[in-house]
Amino acid sequence: MIFEPELETLPNDRLRELQAERLAATVRYVSKRVPFYGETLSAAGVKHADMVPIEDLPTIPFTRKKDLVEHYPYGLLAVPKEEVVRVHASSGTTGKPTVVAYTAADMDLFARVVARCLALGGGQPGFTLHNAYGYGLFTGGLGLDAGGMRLGMAVVPASGGMTQRQVTLISDLRPEIISATPSYALTLAQELRSRGISPEENSLRYAVVGAEPWTEPMRVEIDATLGVRCTNIYGLSEIIGPGVANECIEERHGSHIQEDFFLPEVVDPQSGDPLEDGEEGVLVLTTLTKQALPLLRYWTGDITSLSHEPCSCGRTFARMSQIKGRTDDMIIIRGVNLYPTQIGDVLGLVRELSPHFKLVVSREGLLDEVEVRVEVTEEFFRAVSVDMLSDEVVEADHVLRSCRERTKTLLKDSLGVNAKVTLLAPGEGPRSEGGKLSRIEDHRNLN
Ligand code: ADP
Ligand code: ZN
Repeated sequence: MIFEPELETLPNDRLRELQAERLAATVRYVSKRVPFYGETLSAAGVKHADMVPIEDLPTIPFTRKKDLVEHYPYGLLAVPKEEVVRVHASSGTTGKPTVVAYTAADMDLFARVVARCLALGGGQPGFTLHNAYGYGLFTGGLGLDAGGMRLGMAVVPASGGMTQRQVTLISDLRPEIISATPSYALTLAQELRSRGISPEENSLRYAVVGAEPWTEPMRVEIDATLGVRCTNIYGLSEIIGPGVANECIEERHGSHIQEDFFLPEVVDPQSGDPLEDGEEGVLVLTTLTKQALPLLRYWTGDITSLSHEPCSCGRTFARMSQIKGRTDDMIIIRGVNLYPTQIGDVLGLVRELSPHFKLVVSREGLLDEVEVRVEVTEEFFRAVSVDMLSDEVVEADHVLRSCRERTKTLLKDSLGVNAKVTLLAPGEGPRSEGGKLSRIEDHRNLN
């Protein structure tokens, strides 16, 4: 179902008009209310008294994370502090925390866009939503909570962690839909399996997963092990939290961006120049109706591309491809630029491996070394253990070496990287517990 069909299927020209009108209003609003914007806009020669035509968007300077950090905590507020009804903080994945604030109207918008996302991912009024995002300062838990209720679902605020109890809740309350980080969804799937509950037996039909980069092999694994169709949810606290975009259950091919509220652009990471559809670059978002913390051309650092191809679900909103990573997740190994998601995609080609992996980067003398630590599947682990126990140690050794060698060769051939491959037993790799997962351990001390 479509939560707000009249808006989500707006014809392109009407959508463009609405965005232009809202952009102009937002530029006027921030230039009067936020000293930082008053200064940067006039320094850039943007005549904010006039309507800013949407074609002139690139003349507006980017807003960056550092601007939020410099004005921590409330320096960029566009409303008096008394109008703020909620604050959240970004999870600080990339260092300094930032605080974001919401008015009552912003909270209403937050619930609406998350309700749209849940409907995109298969949610319906009357369903039960098991929400396994962490509750608290992180926008994920409370954001999905409000959106689930707005769509008309019964929300189970499971939050992160206490996996045993979550599985009991899932068995007893029989939710049709679950929200979680992709890595935690897999942890829950594993726990369900270890209790002997098969994917067909559990009540789940849909999973809305996001908040961290993930890969197609993980999608296959989540679908199969939870017995669902999972979709990607994307968002960031600076813009609102989760709710910026979600894949539709019909195509699961790119996430529809709630374009009537968040104006997307993809720009070249170096020059900042706007890129065409299909070209990969940094996602830049402008809020179009936010009150407390409106942001112009916010540099998300997330790498993606846009598509305006029509979609069979009927929505007209542009779609963004799966996030490859953040510009600051990119590691450069002996001159090769790498995102952890690219490694994840290659690991997915090796039958014996699970999607749980971590990269450990170190420097030996002048040369960077990368080690890929990846869990093997339970089936493979069992087969090898049986060999070991039945004194077929040589055979087991051979099988493990062959798996490592094949993985190494694939990584070299597809990404041009020479990595050491270490196999881990199931459960030894990294997992998130409702918050975000970091896949890189960098011991290089580059600063
Ligand atoms: P922090 O910036 O501290 O991590 P947030 O909680 O606001 O704080 O996280 C937002 C970021 O999380 C996004 O900018 C993006 O990098 C990542 N993210 C969120 N959803 C997804 C997703 N579906 N796929 C990949 N990355 C995501
Ligand atoms: Zn669609």
